[in-house]
Amino acid sequence: MTTRQSSVAVSGTFRDALNRAREMLAESNIEDPALESVVLLTRALKMNRVQLYLEFDNPISPEQAEQFGRLVTRRLKGEPAAYIVGHREFYGFDFCVDSNVLIPRPETELIVEQALELAKDRPITTIADIGTGCGAIAISLAHKLPETKIYATDISAAALKVASANCQKHGVSDRICLLEGDLLAPLPEPVDLIVANLPYVTDVDLNKVNTFGFEPTLALSGGPDGLDKIRRLCSQVSEKLSPGGSLLLEIGQGQVAAVTALLRNAFPAFKIEAFTDLAGIGRVVGMLFC
Ligand code: GLN
Repeated sequence: MTTRQSSVAVSGTFRDALNRAREMLAESNIEDPALESVVLLTRALKMNRVQLYLEFDNPISPEQAEQFGRLVTRRLKGEPAAYIVGHREFYGFDFCVDSNVLIPRPETELIVEQALELAKDRPITTIADIGTGCGAIAISLAHKLPETKIYATDISAAALKVASANCQKHGVSDRICLLEGDLLAPLPEPVDLIVANLPYVTDVDLNKVNTFGFEPTLALSGGPDGLDKIRRLCSQVSEKLSPGGSLLLEIGQGQVAAVTALLRNAFPAFKIEAFTDLAGIGRVVGMLFC
């Protein structure tokens, strides 16, 4: 690692440093080396992307090269870029993240989209986002549904600190009520819509998640079949859903049948529907009042 760090910390221009880092990330099979090397270099230089491109042929100072080398080394050791730079974009908004919260995934935008679809057809005055993590789902919905009161719960106090910082950053602290506790337990009233991206990774798949060891296991692990938390949430739903309310759950690949059956047995009066993400994977199961 020391050799690698010193090899990125060469003299030359920003462009040279970037090219070298991109090669190193590519050699380590990091998925998007071109983008990630830019993300790390802009962070090291404390510049935005436009500034970087304008100054591409400027010489990198030894301090800047050393700082960039440190960030690249962290990435080569497997730490996700979102944690290194401290933020990640989701649904067009920027969220602070740290190792106490899951990094928002693009496929989770589907749950936001389906919630907005539901809100077109029926009045939704209250929403609960269960296991909110950094608050990405709750805050995206708060932006798009300005009349709605939102609760966001998490069992992790450290995660709620991150969510709170994000609520402030997005100016929605007065509309999102953060509650610490287990699943639906802390909700003070029934709500019109429950959304949740709960931990759903099975025990055998846990170490295959490529951020394993960096993201909190608590936010990923769903027990032997991945459905421990989802099952428990279902057992609490009837007390916390308003009459005519709906539930949207993010699920893992291959879980549509099991989660659909679970909901159908527990709530025979509801319509159960699965929604597919951009990769063609059944990613959200909805329990919709009809
Ligand atoms: N989508 C995440 C992954 O597979 C898991 C998120 C979750 O458990 N809710 O990496």
